[in-house]
Amino acid sequence: MQEFSKLVLKLIEASRNHESYRDKECINLIASEGLKSPAVNQMLSLSTDLEGRYAEGENDLEGHVKKRYYQGQKYMKIIENYTTDLMKALFKCGWADSRLVSGTHANLATFKGLSLASKNRKMVVTPLSCGAHISHDYAGLAGSILGLENINHVYNIDEFNIDPDKSAHVIRAAKPGIVTFGGSLFLFPHPVKELKAVAEEVGAFIAYDASHVLGLIAGGVFQDPFAEGADFITSSTHKTFPGPQGGIILGNPKNKRLEKAIKKIQFAVFPLSASNTHLGRLPALGIAALEMKRFGKDLAQQTVKNAQTAGQYLYENGVKVLCESKGFTQSHQIAVDVCNFGGGKKVAQDLEDANIVLNKNLLPYNNQNDRDNPSGLRIGFQDVTRRGFKENDIKHLCDLMLNVMKKKKNPLEVKDDIIELKKEFDQVLYGFQSVEEAIKYCETV
Ligand SMILES: *Cc1c(COP(=O)(O)O)cnc(C)c1O
Repeated sequence: MQEFSKLVLKLIEASRNHESYRDKECINLIASEGLKSPAVNQMLSLSTDLEGRYAEGENDLEGHVKKRYYQGQKYMKIIENYTTDLMKALFKCGWADSRLVSGTHANLATFKGLSLASKNRKMVVTPLSCGAHISHDYAGLAGSILGLENINHVYNIDEFNIDPDKSAHVIRAAKPGIVTFGGSLFLFPHPVKELKAVAEEVGAFIAYDASHVLGLIAGGVFQDPFAEGADFITSSTHKTFPGPQGGIILGNPKNKRLEKAIKKIQFAVFPLSASNTHLGRLPALGIAALEMKRFGKDLAQQTVKNAQTAGQYLYENGVKVLCESKGFTQSHQIAVDVCNFGGGKKVAQDLEDANIVLNKNLLPYNNQNDRDNPSGLRIGFQDVTRRGFKENDIKHLCDLMLNVMKKKKNPLEVKDDIIELKKEFDQVLYGFQSVEEAIKYCETV
C-alpha cells in the first residue's frame, strides 16, 4: 500500500510540475499543439458531469441527434445539436459530425464511410515522406486497419506541394474512391481546385484533412477547401483551431450521392467506431468556435505573418529554411534543414535544454528509414502568436534559438532568457478570458 501511495503522490507531483513547465517556463513551437483560452478551459471545468455521460445513437442529415439509446439526454441532445450547428455556421456547410474524439478518428470514419459509399478501396494520398499523416498511409490506419490500397499523389519537392498535372494522370489511371489532401508538414495550399474535375471524372470523393490548418481556414487564410471543391473536411479541433482535443467532420448534403456518403460516414462513426464520444469537450468546442468567429481572422493573419517572419529571419542568419523562393510558408509552420548544425535530433534536444520545445522532422529528401536522425525541424507559431508575439518578438525568439544552434551560448543560459521572455507573455489573446466575458459578448452583438 505504501508503494501504491507513493506512486500516487509522485503522479500528482509530476502532473503539477508538467503544468508549470510547459505552460509557464517553456516556449512551445510544436506545430500540432493549440493553445486554449481561459474561457475554453473554464468551460471544460464546468462540464465535468457531461464528461462522464454516454450518447450512443444515430444522427440525421443535418448532423443533429436523431436517436439515442439512453435516457437522461434532455440537455445533452441540445448540447450536441448546438455545437454541431456552431461548427456548421463557422465553416458555412450543411452537415457536421462533432462526435469524433480525434483527428485520426475523423479520418477513420470518413475513409471507411467513403470507401463503402464508392464501393472502392483505392485512395490517392500525399506520400508519407512528403508530410501526409500516418493515418492516410498504408502503414497506418488507412492500410493496416481499413485495408485500403494507397496510391501516392506525385509530389514536387521543389514546390513542396502536390504536382497537379502529374497527379491528374495518377488519379485517372488509378480510379480511386477517395482523393485526399492535407497533411502534417503542410506549408502551402494543396491543389484542390486543380484536381476537382479529375476526381469527379473518375467518381472519387475529395477528403481534405485540415487538422493542422483548421484555425487558419476559419480565419479566412490559407485556402477554402469547400469553395475549391472538397466534398468533406476531416480535422482535429486542437491544432491551429484552439479548441479542446477532439475531432470533426464537415460536409454538404448537396445531392443524393453526398447524402449517401454522409449516411455511410455516420454509420462508420456509430456503431462502427465510437461508443462514448467524450461529450465533455462539446461546450468548450462551441466557445472556441465563437472565438474563431470573433478573433479568427486577426489570429490567423498574425500567425502566418509570424511564421513568415521567422522563416525570413532565420534564413538571413544562415539557417537553411526550406522554400525561400516561395516565401517560406503560407501556413503556421516552417520547415528547416539543420544538417549543418548537427541534425534535427541534436538541435531539438539542445533547444529543449533551453526550454524551447519543437520537434525534429524527416524532410522529403531524407532517408525515410532513418526516423531517428532526420535533418529537419518543423516549427509552428500558433501558440506564441496567441500569447501576443508580433514580428519583433519573433525575431528576438529566433535570436535566442540561433544562440543555441550556433553554440554562442550554453542552452542553460538561454533557458533563463526564455523563462524571462515567457513572463512577458503570460496572457492568451484572441479569445475570451472567462465564460462570463463570452456571454457578455454574445449579448451585445
Ligand atoms: C494531427 C493530425 C491528425 C490526427 O489528429 P489527432 O487528433 O492527433 O488524432 C490527422 N491528420 C493530420 C494531417 C494531422 O496533422
